[in-house]
Amino acid sequence: MLGGECHQVRLRGADLFVLTGCAEPATSVFATLPAVARVVAGRRAFELCDRELWPGGTVVDVAGVPIGDGGVVLAAGPCAVETATQLDVAATAAAGAGAALLRGGAFKPRSSPYSFQGLGVPALELLAEQRRRTGLRVVTEVLEPEQVGPASALADMLQIGTRSMHNFALLREVGRAGLPVLLKRGMAATVEEWLLAAEYVLAAGNADVVLCERGIRTFEPATRFTLDLAVIPLVKQLSHLPVFVDPSHATGHAHLVPAMTLAAAAAGADGVLLDIHHDPRSARCDGGQALQPGDLTALADALARQLAATGRTVTPAPVPSSLRTG
Ligand code: PEP
Ligand code: MN
Repeated sequence: MLGGECHQVRLRGADLFVLTGCAEPATSVFATLPAVARVVAGRRAFELCDRELWPGGTVVDVAGVPIGDGGVVLAAGPCAVETATQLDVAATAAAGAGAALLRGGAFKPRSSPYSFQGLGVPALELLAEQRRRTGLRVVTEVLEPEQVGPASALADMLQIGTRSMHNFALLREVGRAGLPVLLKRGMAATVEEWLLAAEYVLAAGNADVVLCERGIRTFEPATRFTLDLAVIPLVKQLSHLPVFVDPSHATGHAHLVPAMTLAAAAAGADGVLLDIHHDPRSARCDGGQALQPGDLTALADALARQLAATGRTVTPAPVPSSLRTG
């Protein structure tokens, strides 16, 4: 009678109905129903990510690490998990510098099929071992829907890389997985396309999405990508989702990472994702952008000093007593 379609989704304990293609009277009719708490006029294509839905913002809980509560979360680790020793050194450095999350690729999206593709499931097990040892929560990338199950069993947060932002089957699968998602911006994606990719995850029933700006393709080859920091305040106006920045993949050069980390925090980022390696020249992936352990400590100190001026702090790692077993 009123036309249009209705998509029902349960998020954060509330039943939400996204109405599309309805004439205006539908909104008024819904607003009069006793079971309807609130009607939000969808002015944008991304209805569930829209800030109007949850104006106070979303805090994503990564196994005890809050993202989006005003603190700045440090996530650090190797681009790719290479060996037990390499990961052990990186996890020790990350924990020592005050990171709350350990990053590390088990499945690597490489431009060339002949490049190192990651260790796969054995890398997930090495990450889980470091999780038990250090208390750091683990974020790792999935490339295919089939990897979501094994990664969810051992990690705390699933990363969708820039090359997968438009992989809708994968977005739906992480939407069903129930683990927080770190959704990188496609390197050629507009802000609206990025938020619509996030919308896929929310529409599949998962509101725990953290967006991650990681640089976009421009004409400039002097940096690996062009870090678009303006999207931090912009996306925070448009959406209730927290925003991370990856200065490592954005710049491609370790010497540019500290300044861009501080700039990201100053622009309001909820966290940063940093590549580290104890011997960048021997790294099997992205060595040029990896900070060494000492650089990470210095950067974390500089970040803490900068944040103090604005009343913000680096989010501490969860207390080890809250570690899950197994
Ligand atoms: C990564 O973080 O390991 C990665 C591959 O990043 P991106 O998808 O941004 O290139
Ligand atoms: Mn990388």
